[in-house]
Amino acid sequence: ETLFSKIIRREIPATIVYEDDEVLGFKDIAPQAPVHVLFIPKNEIIPTLDDLQPSQAHLIGKLALAAAEYARREGFAQDGYRIVMNCREDAGQTVFHIHMHLLAGAQLGHFGTPGR
Ligand code: 5GP
Repeated sequence: ETLFSKIIRREIPATIVYEDDEVLGFKDIAPQAPVHVLFIPKNEIIPTLDDLQPSQAHLIGKLALAAAEYARREGFAQDGYRIVMNCREDAGQTVFHIHMHLLAGAQLGHFGTPGR
């Protein structure tokens, strides 16, 4: 279990901006863009994308649909946005409860270059 389970149970505070039966969306505590929201599955703990089972594949679509709905609702869907999932050390994953980052609100810089 990670701190995201505590956010789901409202045991630690977070700015929750999206919720449905399967997905919770909340603002990242250390935003990397003007808009930075994390979308997570509420009912299953999957540590990394590498742990995702075929029976759980729909959850990734649910996270993406939640992000897209949030972008439309907040009015930046037409300007654009980026979704990111980090898997393990080389991608800088720090919380081992699968999550989709939504980044928006500015022209986003290039990504993917080695940091070390
Ligand atoms: P990762 O690096 O694992 O892909 O992303 C984890 C994200 O969770 C980071 O962007 C980090 O800022 C965010 N984060 C870590 N702890 C908390 C917290 O307690 N509350 C919120 N809202 N975000 C957190």
